[in-house]
Order: sequence, then structure tokens, then C-alpha cells
Amino acid sequence: MQQEEQRIDGHTRVCGLIGNPVEHTMSPIIHNTLAKKEGRNLIYVPFHVENGRVGEAVKGAFALNVLGLNVTVPYKSEVLEHLDGMDGMAEKIGAVNTLVRTDKGYKGYNTDVTGLYRAMCSEGIRLEGEEILILGAGGAARAAAFLCASKGAKKVYILNRTAEKAGGVAEEVNRAFRTECVRAMRMGDYKNLGTGRKYLAIQATSVGLYPDKEKAVIMEREFYEMIHTGFDLIYKPFRTKFMSMVQEAGGQAFHGLKMLLYQGIEAYELWNGIAVPEEDALALYRTLLEYMGI
Ligand code: NAP
Repeated sequence: MQQEEQRIDGHTRVCGLIGNPVEHTMSPIIHNTLAKKEGRNLIYVPFHVENGRVGEAVKGAFALNVLGLNVTVPYKSEVLEHLDGMDGMAEKIGAVNTLVRTDKGYKGYNTDVTGLYRAMCSEGIRLEGEEILILGAGGAARAAAFLCASKGAKKVYILNRTAEKAGGVAEEVNRAFRTECVRAMRMGDYKNLGTGRKYLAIQATSVGLYPDKEKAVIMEREFYEMIHTGFDLIYKPFRTKFMSMVQEAGGQAFHGLKMLLYQGIEAYELWNGIAVPEEDALALYRTLLEYMGI
């Protein structure tokens, strides 16, 4: 991606990430690369916010004229009470990862959901009419479950180690969309789904995350034989054990780097009121790959 020089002067606008920890983030690469490419006078920095201080952080950012913030673990829900309004989908989910400045405060958005959708579309994956298995019931799995229901999935099964958590997510999604298409199951219960049908599987647990490269939350080959497409939300390592097992059983597999890319692009677009051209998105994707040494 060809880049302009990034300048900092009296007009520079600031965006950033609040969370704890934030030290591992790749978001500054996404936003600063886009700003440089566009010649936009904007800089993006990480802000480590200690537990219990997220309200102060949001108030302080507004006072400092910060244009926008991303929000990461553990504040995606805790930050809600400090906002001045929420986008419809974020309100349904009860979690935000992007704050956009308004006259009175910040409005919350969830670009994990829209970013995941854009990533899936760019890989040619469809959700409408699909039968989908979601592994996990944490924050990322919730975003995936809301997305699947909102895009007309035929059936969504949420499989989680802690079945009660899966039940809670299924109930919330069904209530939000007045549907009964989402069902919770224990991790091993995929065996009850019967053979013959093929599913889209979204891997949203943290099992297999670097350095545990040889682990997948389900290790039985019979599970992977049920999968036509596996989408792992993990992007480090680049090829997860889940992906390998999907491919070995004949399915196609994708990792989470494009989700990261597009959740960032969606936030950048909201802050600046622009649309990032797809060719710039793909150039930025190559920059991220380079950064990861791939
Ligand atoms: P989270 O809220 O902490 O949820 C973790 C999930 O993993 C839970 O369902 C948990 O099950 C399950 N889990 C953890 N250890 C397990 C084990 N040993 N055996 C079985 N299940 C286990 O985390 P999250 O925020 O949802 O993130 C989940 C993954 O998605 C992470 O790897 C993260 O890197 C990735 N992610 C990627 C993006 C992206 O942009 N690509 C964005 C967000 C997240 P229990 O409920 O039973 O504890």
C-alpha cells in the first residue's frame, strides 16, 4: 500500500483503543495505515485503562476532543452506561467495540458483527438459509450468533463447554429476533445432529490461540466430516488446528484476520464518514500479513 507521510500538528485528530491489556493490538497498524494512505490528519493510539476506570476514560476522551475509540476486553459491555446512545444492533447485543463522537458524548457501535459479516462476504460465505455450528459462547461467539440470526440463518447451534452460557446466548438471540432458530448444546452433542448434512462452523472459542497451535476445541475427525466450511475467528496462528482439521476432512477453512481487518475498517469509516475502497482494504490486508511475517 503506497503511503503518504503521517504528520502531527495542531489539527491532528486522535482516535484510540481502550482496554486492558492493549499492548498486543494490531489496530494502530490498521488505522494509521489508512490515515497515511488517505493523507488524513489522524493518529490512532492504544490507551491502557485500569479496571474500574472506563467511565473516567470515556469522559476524559470526550473532554480531550478524541474523535473515536475502539473498545476491547474487558470493557465491551461495561462501557455502555457511559455512552450517549447506541446503534440498533449494538443495543440488541449489549456490547460495543466502537465509539463515535457526537455533540453530547459517544454513540456505541458493534463493528465486530459488521466486520465479521464483511469478512465472510469477501470469502464468498453465505449465512442466509444455512445451518451453522458456533463453537463457544463468549463475546465473539455472541457477535457471531447475532449476525447469523440477523442474516436469516436457517438454524444456529451454539456448542460450548459451559452449556448454561450457550443457553443464555441462544435465549437472548431468539428473543432479540423473535425467532427460535438458535439452539444451545453441549460441545459433544454435535453427535446427535445426525449424519448426511453439512454445516458452516464458526470457531469462536479461545482454544488453539497462539502458542497452543496444536489444540482445537473438538479433536474428533467425525465432527470435521460434518463441516463444508470452517471459519476460525483466531488469526494467530495463521493456520489453526481447527482449520487444518476442516481441510483434512475435505472442507474449506478461513482464519480471523479479515474479521480484524474489516471491524477496523468499519470503525474508521464511521469516524470519518467515508467508505474505504475495497482495493485499499485488500492492500491493508497485505500490510497486516507482512506485519505478521506471512
Ligand atoms: P471469551 O469471551 O473469553 O470466550 C472464550 C470462549 O472459549 C468461551 O466460550 C469458553 O468456554 C471457550 N473456552 C476457553 N477455554 C476453553 C477450553 N479449554 N475448552 C473449551 N472451551 C474453552 O473470548 P472471546 O472474546 O469470545 O474470544 C474468543 C476467540 O475469538 C479468541 O481466540 C479471540 O482471539 C477471537 N476473536 C477474534 C476477533 C477477530 O477480529 N478476528 C475478534 C474477537 C475475538 P466457557 O464458556 O466454557 O468458558
